[in-house]
Amino acid sequence: MSALIDLDNNHDDLRAAVRALCSKYPGEYWRAKDRARAYPGEFVDELTRAGFLACLIPEEFGGSGLGIGSAAAILEEIHATGCNGGACHAQMYTMGTVLRHGSPEQKKTYLPRIASGELRLQAFGVTEPTTGSDTTQLRTTAEKRSNHYVVNGQKVWISRAEHSDLLLLLARTTPKEQVKKRTDGLSVFLIELKHAVGNGLTIRPIRTMINHATTELFFDNLEIPLSTLVGEEGSGFHYILDGMNAERILIAAECIGDARFFIEKATNYAKERVVFGKPIGANQGVQFPIARAYAEMQAAALMVRKAAALFEAGRPCGPEANMAKMLAAEASWHAADMCLQTHGGFGFAEEYDVERKFRETRLYQVAPISTNLILGYLGQHVLGLPRSY
Ligand SMILES: Cc1cc2nc3c(=O)[nH]c(=O)nc-3n(C[C@H](O)[C@H](O)[C@H](O)COP(=O)(O)OP(=O)(O)OC[C@H]3O[C@@H](n4cnc5c(N)ncnc54)[C@H](O)[C@@H]3O)c2cc1C
Repeated sequence: MSALIDLDNNHDDLRAAVRALCSKYPGEYWRAKDRARAYPGEFVDELTRAGFLACLIPEEFGGSGLGIGSAAAILEEIHATGCNGGACHAQMYTMGTVLRHGSPEQKKTYLPRIASGELRLQAFGVTEPTTGSDTTQLRTTAEKRSNHYVVNGQKVWISRAEHSDLLLLLARTTPKEQVKKRTDGLSVFLIELKHAVGNGLTIRPIRTMINHATTELFFDNLEIPLSTLVGEEGSGFHYILDGMNAERILIAAECIGDARFFIEKATNYAKERVVFGKPIGANQGVQFPIARAYAEMQAAALMVRKAAALFEAGRPCGPEANMAKMLAAEASWHAADMCLQTHGGFGFAEEYDVERKFRETRLYQVAPISTNLILGYLGQHVLGLPRSY
């Protein structure tokens, strides 16, 4: 394993380039977007033009064909600078489903246009209001007719749907009662949203405690061409599972970036803020929580590296990707709490960006998978305990 994780390769040049771009989007930019719950389109467009969002797309389709370690470095750095990759991170991992399972025609049609920024693939439709984490029970159906599918149902928490050209949708194509395993009979579709909205698809935004452009989707006899099916009908759940390790690793990297942001903010503040005649950081009660957050972040970052190294080597990495996501999300949340406490009352003031990042990083305890479900996976699949869900 030590040979697999290259601790000397920190992607320093890539990180510096990302930081340079992010420096043009300081706290004021994000605060204004947050207040208005507005999409950071300028930031996303610039990241796209710079090629960062296409880093995992192979060169033959116009991307830079880098590995997941590079993608993780990009997202980590975005978050460490106080920016938010939540506006666009999905493109990196949803694209993988099209790349691995799409037809040659779908890849040729979409991947170069996603790489160039002509099309955004930012929306990923899995979660439903009545079934939540129990994905195989989802109720949205895509019924095959002679020359199209008809989609009916509802999705919730589908982020960026209003700012994306394409939606990757998971729907049931064979009724549950007719399949042997509950994971069978689900299919993935790549849908062009401009044809769908107003023709059977309604998008309704959900206002949340963070600026995440998340929505509800209502499908009412939406007709989609047969050519929107990705891979084989009925295998969609496996395709989505396939992409989940990448998703977990990339979200974990964002959490590491958040933790770094909080630790740096808290350290600087603790050195500067003088109360009772000395910097507050001279008190162990203030200093030790910062040091603890740093140690937790470093430990979680190692697990992210291990998961990314296994992924890049094409080796199984389910447990590592899940542990990386859980540990990094915990490290970022603990660092957020520590940072707010270190700032005292000023932690609540918008202009410090602590409260905004505090709200933003809380999401990763719940999405894209909640901590309990990761613990359930580890209990059952790694430790051999009885299935708990
Ligand atoms: C801002 C935001 C953006 C999102 N973006 C997307 C998106 O783009 N696309 C998409 O498809 N989804 C998205 N999601 C959905 C997200 O993936 C789900 O919210 C998440 O998977 C949890 O599902 P749920 O909300 O239905 O919670 P539930 O499944 O209802 O779970 C509720 C609570 O119960 C716990 N729980 C449930 N079952 C068990 C069990 N058996 N054992 C122990 N604990 C259990 C969970 O851990 C959780 O804490 C987003 C969510 C949010 C909030």
